[in-house]
Amino acid sequence: MSSSEKTPAKGLATRLAHMGRYPKEFHGFVNPPVVHASTVLFPDTKTMLSGAQTYHYARRGNPTTNALEDAVAELEGAHGAHLAPSGLGAVSLALLSAVSSGDHLLVTDSVYGPTRNLAEKMLKRMGVEVDYYDPTIGAGIAELFKPNTRAVMTEAPGSLTFEMQDLPAIVEAAHARDALVVMDNTWATPVYFDAIGHGVDLSVQAGTKYLVGHSDAMLGTVAASERAWERLDETYGALGMHVAPDDVYLGLRGLRTLKVRLERHMESGLEIARWLEGRPEVSRVRHPGLESDPGHALWARDFTGASGLFAFDFTDDVTFEQSCAFLDALELFGLGYSWGGFESLAIPVRLKGARTATPVPGNASIRLHIGLEDTADIRADLEAGFAALRG
Ligand SMILES: *Cc1c(COP(=O)(O)O)cnc(C)c1O
Repeated sequence: MSSSEKTPAKGLATRLAHMGRYPKEFHGFVNPPVVHASTVLFPDTKTMLSGAQTYHYARRGNPTTNALEDAVAELEGAHGAHLAPSGLGAVSLALLSAVSSGDHLLVTDSVYGPTRNLAEKMLKRMGVEVDYYDPTIGAGIAELFKPNTRAVMTEAPGSLTFEMQDLPAIVEAAHARDALVVMDNTWATPVYFDAIGHGVDLSVQAGTKYLVGHSDAMLGTVAASERAWERLDETYGALGMHVAPDDVYLGLRGLRTLKVRLERHMESGLEIARWLEGRPEVSRVRHPGLESDPGHALWARDFTGASGLFAFDFTDDVTFEQSCAFLDALELFGLGYSWGGFESLAIPVRLKGARTATPVPGNASIRLHIGLEDTADIRADLEAGFAALRG
């Protein structure tokens, strides 16, 4: 029995310290062992053929992977959870379990770019019809349903542009038509948005980001509601998804500090976002935790916090090339894509041409991940970037 099963009513920080740990099963050691395995032995043919033994073959799980799957299922309040070798692997696993040939899939226009690529290159080839919708559509999504619409892909806030989505309204419209709602919840994590509790059927996290939290492993998780679980479990087994135990262990280790790290990312992120709002070179800060953000009311209603990832747009007179000069002047911020680690990162964003359903107004934009460094140093680095903007 897990320690968490004995303490169901405890607070989130307490549960994060205990979920997915079974010290009594491992001679009292606090953490589960890292099990390097393929073959599992059986004592006799009767046991082998009965299927009654907990583990049969490491592809379907071992004590290390089960510890993290149990913890993710508990953290998400889900019926069950599976791991994937990357966040994109988790998106693939969720979508392949939700749609089949001949089905129609609705995808938010603000979706993570590689998820759009999966839909365009793979799902369409396999006979899935895909349409993109305005991320701010809310209950209006009902009008986009066709008789064969089986799933709605959501992500809030959106990748690069940070639009919020009215998830309860989308869930209501989808469930009324017996369609599943899939959500990429990487930005908030289940700590700041209870996706399953809001009716999402398949909640995806790129564990590479905040769960692992130290830029040293790739991981994905998919948690399912009761009605989505059977197909997720079946698809997971069929695809042969497996994550190496050392990486799973890094996910388990990151989990223990997820809440305290997120609190700091949120606090520092909001401080820097507010400071950027006051800069003359900045026309807009894309952060739903700011009162000025168009998605703020939805964020305040449904989310309990914000992570450290957001973007800002330069005023229209700043060219894309000048925004690159800003980035090249940064010393503390790294130029890199995968965020969620302890360090601050920045990337250039081209808003034009990123969408198919809805145009995105704006010029040169920069996405920032605010890490765990001192905010005075983060600000000083950004000031150097602004100084370099005009050459
Ligand atoms: C990074 C990211 C992913 C993909 O995660 P990987 O582990 O890099 O494959 C998926 N969704 C979002 C929103 C992300 O930011």
